[in-house]
Amino acid sequence: MFIESFKVESPNVKYTEGEIESVYNYETTELVHENKNGTYQWVVKPKTVKYKFKTNTHVPKLGVMLVGWGGNNGSTLTGGVIANREGISWATKDKIQRANYFGSLTQASAIRVGSFQGEEIYAPFKSMLPMVNPDDIVFGGWDISNLNLADAMARAKVLDIDLQKQLRPYMESMVPLPGIFDPDFIAANQGDRANNVIKGTKKEQVQQIIKDIKEFKEKSKVDKVVVLWTANTERYSNVVVGLNDTVENLLASLDRNEAEISPSTLYAIACVMENVPFINGSPQNTFVPGLIDLAIRRNTLIGGDDFKSGQTKMKSVLVDFLVGAGIKPTSIVSYNHLGNNDGMNLSAPQTFRSKEISKSNVVDDMVNSNAILYQPGEHPDHVVVIKYVPCVGDSKRAMDEYTSEIFMGGKNTIVLHNTCEDSLLAAPIILDLVLLAELSTRIQFKAEDEGKFHSFHPVAAILSYLSKAPLVPPGTPVVNALSKQRAMLENIMRACIGLAPENNMILEYK
Ligand code: NAD
Repeated sequence: MFIESFKVESPNVKYTEGEIESVYNYETTELVHENKNGTYQWVVKPKTVKYKFKTNTHVPKLGVMLVGWGGNNGSTLTGGVIANREGISWATKDKIQRANYFGSLTQASAIRVGSFQGEEIYAPFKSMLPMVNPDDIVFGGWDISNLNLADAMARAKVLDIDLQKQLRPYMESMVPLPGIFDPDFIAANQGDRANNVIKGTKKEQVQQIIKDIKEFKEKSKVDKVVVLWTANTERYSNVVVGLNDTVENLLASLDRNEAEISPSTLYAIACVMENVPFINGSPQNTFVPGLIDLAIRRNTLIGGDDFKSGQTKMKSVLVDFLVGAGIKPTSIVSYNHLGNNDGMNLSAPQTFRSKEISKSNVVDDMVNSNAILYQPGEHPDHVVVIKYVPCVGDSKRAMDEYTSEIFMGGKNTIVLHNTCEDSLLAAPIILDLVLLAELSTRIQFKAEDEGKFHSFHPVAAILSYLSKAPLVPPGTPVVNALSKQRAMLENIMRACIGLAPENNMILEYK
């Protein structure tokens, strides 16, 4: 059975005028490597830490500024949200299609809340805590191409034509602000697009972005802004001592107009200076150490990297399943071909390299979790190929071959062929990223030995489910396995309303 909403009644939770306060017993373990009479042994000690959570229930009017607004993702997301808001339906060759948010964890997935008279009861994921309704988001942003969003949507060739016709009047007046363009960081084949760029030194460009954010906030009368990079994948920038390794060095480099500061880092600096959350949906190393430190110092949320939309999502499910089943993946070979502008940009070796790096570590945590299968340092062969094939447009093909070693030296090969419009996968993920980033800034918590409530660490590991290469605070383990990432998010939200983590034990029926 499905219920639309629920309220928790418990001594551990209090719903007040502007807040939900909860007390949460975090059941964890403490590990000790003890010397008992000359032999070392591992001892696991269960431990309970009492946490208090406070969630501000005032849902703000949210503005989302996309860097690369006129791209395939930006125009698809904007059109998709307008279609939902306006209740648009359109004719496809199969049926009359209604706008929806399929593919969005927050808008289209469910959580189990318990059982009632022998039936499992589910509720929308978004019903756990008050969240911004995506229909109410005001979009804005930058693009180095000056096409309005209606023309950008047509250029993207993603949405059905009958839908495009209905969306055009809403999107024609949406024109991206000029963006920061540096041809050194993206493929040379993108140069023709760049007719809408901010002039001046890097410092002036940062100041312009800050001004743009302020003006957008004022004009659109939003309470809060989140900025998300969905622009072209850049090449990696060099991390160099004295250049971008510390806050001071990064800011001094900005003053010196150093060539090696990438456009994405410039946008991020502007956002952190303005205390506006910044999320990176592409694989490049926008978050150089000096920028991470700046975000930590200013307690401004940063998150990323690279949307986890298709092939990697499958990988972080399949390898988790195989390793979890005691099967040993020995080779993972991934081919992609795509024909959109992202594919064209990725056909340059430097930008492809960013994608290759981002896709390469996605099974590390799963492999490292099982030393019965893998010797120390052993890893499956893992190869990623991406080719630009204009004919397929945004409809990306991802072909993966997983070879595993099974019982008694046997071999098992699984081959997947995935065809899908890339931007239809990415758009709902962008939505989740901004909605969850906004929500997480309204949550405060403290452990029993902490004096004051504080927000989550500014490096938003909470967004890992949506990121191919999750950015985590220094010294924090990276979790790639999709089910763990989802459970982390769901269970933190449950903690905020005083509910225990979903344990799947269903003991009442055992
Ligand atoms: P796209 O090329 O259609 O859109 C990118 C837009 O960014 C373009 O309109 C371009 O003009 C603009 N742009 C480039 N540099 C800019 C800058 N410095 N400032 C402002 N605008 C700039 O690409 P897309 O398909 O929308 O993908 C966007 C990004 O998302 C890519 O980096 C891609 O790798 C990443 N990504 C996409 C997916 C997916 O499934 N679609 C998954 C993971 C990551």
